[in-house]
Amino acid sequence: MFNKILIANRGEIACRVIESARKLGVQTVAVYSDADAGAKHVALADEAVHIGAPAPADSYLRGDAIINAARVTGAQAIHPGYGFLSENPDFVDAVEAAGLVFIGPSASAIRAMGLKDAAKKLMEEAGVPVVPGYHGANQDPEHLSGAADAIGYPVLIKAVAGGGGKGMRLVTKASEFADALASARGEAKTAFGNEAVLIEKYIEKPRHIELQVFGDGEDAVHLFERDCSLQRRHQKVIEEAPAPGMTTEMRNAMGEAAVRAAKAIGYKGAGTVEFIVDGSEGLRPDRFWFMEMNTRLQVEHPVTEAITNVDLVEWQLRVASGEALPAAQDQIKLTGHAFEARLYAEDVPAGFLPSTGTLSHLEFSPMARNDSGVRAGDTISPWYDPMIAKIITHGPTREIALARLARALDETRVAGSVTNLAFLGALTRHKGFAVGDVDTGLIARDIDGLTAQAGATPRQMALAALVATDLVGNRPAMSGFTLWDALNRTVMLDHAGERFDAVIRAHSADYCSVWAGETEVEAKRINGSWLLDGEPAPAFSRNGDTITVFADAGHIFHVIDPINQDAGAGAAGNVIEAPMPGLVKAVFVAEGDVVEAGQRLAILEAMKMEHTLTAGRDGTVAELLTSAGAQVEAGAALIRLADEDEGEEAA
Ligand code: ADP
Ligand code: ADP
Ligand code: MG
Repeated sequence: MFNKILIANRGEIACRVIESARKLGVQTVAVYSDADAGAKHVALADEAVHIGAPAPADSYLRGDAIINAARVTGAQAIHPGYGFLSENPDFVDAVEAAGLVFIGPSASAIRAMGLKDAAKKLMEEAGVPVVPGYHGANQDPEHLSGAADAIGYPVLIKAVAGGGGKGMRLVTKASEFADALASARGEAKTAFGNEAVLIEKYIEKPRHIELQVFGDGEDAVHLFERDCSLQRRHQKVIEEAPAPGMTTEMRNAMGEAAVRAAKAIGYKGAGTVEFIVDGSEGLRPDRFWFMEMNTRLQVEHPVTEAITNVDLVEWQLRVASGEALPAAQDQIKLTGHAFEARLYAEDVPAGFLPSTGTLSHLEFSPMARNDSGVRAGDTISPWYDPMIAKIITHGPTREIALARLARALDETRVAGSVTNLAFLGALTRHKGFAVGDVDTGLIARDIDGLTAQAGATPRQMALAALVATDLVGNRPAMSGFTLWDALNRTVMLDHAGERFDAVIRAHSADYCSVWAGETEVEAKRINGSWLLDGEPAPAFSRNGDTITVFADAGHIFHVIDPINQDAGAGAAGNVIEAPMPGLVKAVFVAEGDVVEAGQRLAILEAMKMEHTLTAGRDGTVAELLTSAGAQVEAGAALIRLADEDEGEEAA
């Protein structure tokens, strides 16, 4: 075993690797960018080396700086985590050239799976079923459209260098093929610098089922499957293992195919073979096809750990340090069922817009394994993906594991940023999901119901008002309270963009009436705890003028300063700003254009996703301050609308 390893990553996966290394008595070295100097992974590691500025290209993607950090600290091996350099074969070559061990597959195995067309060819030769389609070299549009006709519509055009769902187009009829091809190529060229595509049969009622494999360079085993069908725009949201409805026959067929794939490239370490499955008539062994192989540890590996009781990072370290596979196939047992939900700082009503913020409160449920790269007080910065935690539950049956997930989500408390907690909670209550009737279209079909927001109840509004006026809270008990005894006090609050006044009438230090919304709520303090209409008040967290009431996945209230009322009216203001640093992908308006509230003005690509920027009000574009292709900072002014007066004068 190694004495010391370096982790070339950040966030939850860096923390996760450090934990297993520590368990094995291995020293750890973290690397960090300026944005992460105070991060959890830095605090957890035995040593930490600064490697550059916040942008990934200036730090976590700088192979040279990372290898140098390993040399300086005497680390013998580098664990790449996922993302960043984890699937970069040139980095593997450089690590090995420096006399260090890369904890992962060989550069040649990564290269073999790097392009989807070459990988499919290789898998076909190894006898692994691949999605029917054309993955040849002829990129002539006529030839490709002929191939699509032969396959039969609907078809999927995929960038061979693709990832993250980019450069992918669904085409349902021949007349739309040429346009779809041009746009897939354009996107692939910008994103990957490679415009080659392949054509695939589009599978109806598709399920994404992937096999966890593990190799030592010669032999390989699988650790069963994960179902990742719960996706939003090709991004996984909730994963589980085993797959609902899986039969022994299907599992054996998929497991054998995955092991064949791993052995065909002499795979070493942890990897995932992704299959697309036609679930229209249940799971059948002749209805699954290879999609691609991810040559790294996967985000959702904890569900596999939960059902097999294997520590996959421990296995990675053991195999990388020269040990043989820690277990034979028949020693790997499946127990119970597990789920993982990805908790993100994102604004679901605003279209799943990634969010930032300092987490003034962060509390997890003891019901779950919570893998997190942040602690209370840490900041979700705009530089990296906005994951807060992965929440993993296990149980003897799917039903119990899912009930535990629902409970764990319910007990998770985050303040300081909006989150997707309510959306995850709604998924755990989805009827189709509950019975295991999953496919990759489930979320899109029911998106309205899944993102419907619970309104705040009068009790929750009343609590926010009491906290806002310091009647309830942890400040010195009710200072000055008697001064306004028998007085009415009004406080203005905002909840989900809607303002309301709450009127508090104090009868004593322990008893008041609060008019909030349309109802009166009676608040009484008994033995130090507040009761609202006779029921215990929910927990809350206050940070400045923001109050989070921990009910229904968290209701956020803002105290409105009556003197400064319009300060926050940015949405309806003149300037459209970049909500985070990113790349301007497209601008849809020109100076002088008349726009309507809600109209799409531009697309910003940031934090791995595309964000549509819309007009906050009707108006006229006075100035275009950016253009497609520009890299912009958070808060940069992109588009200015004419002043409302200017507009009126012009009209
Ligand atoms: P997986 O396919 O492993 O379940 P995802 O689909 O969420 O995970 O992510 C695919 C890859 O993109 C992973 O390697 C992940 O680390 C990487 N990734 C996620 N967010 C970012 C980011 N902000 N910057 C760079 N890479 C990212
Ligand atoms: P990426 O490299 O972008 O992850 P994948 O080939 O892994 O691309 O596909 C991503 C997702 O797209 C899958 O999880 C699945 O939801 C969908 N998908 C891919 N291929 C097909 C197909 N042939 N039929 C239906 N859906 C597909
Ligand atoms: Mg994929």
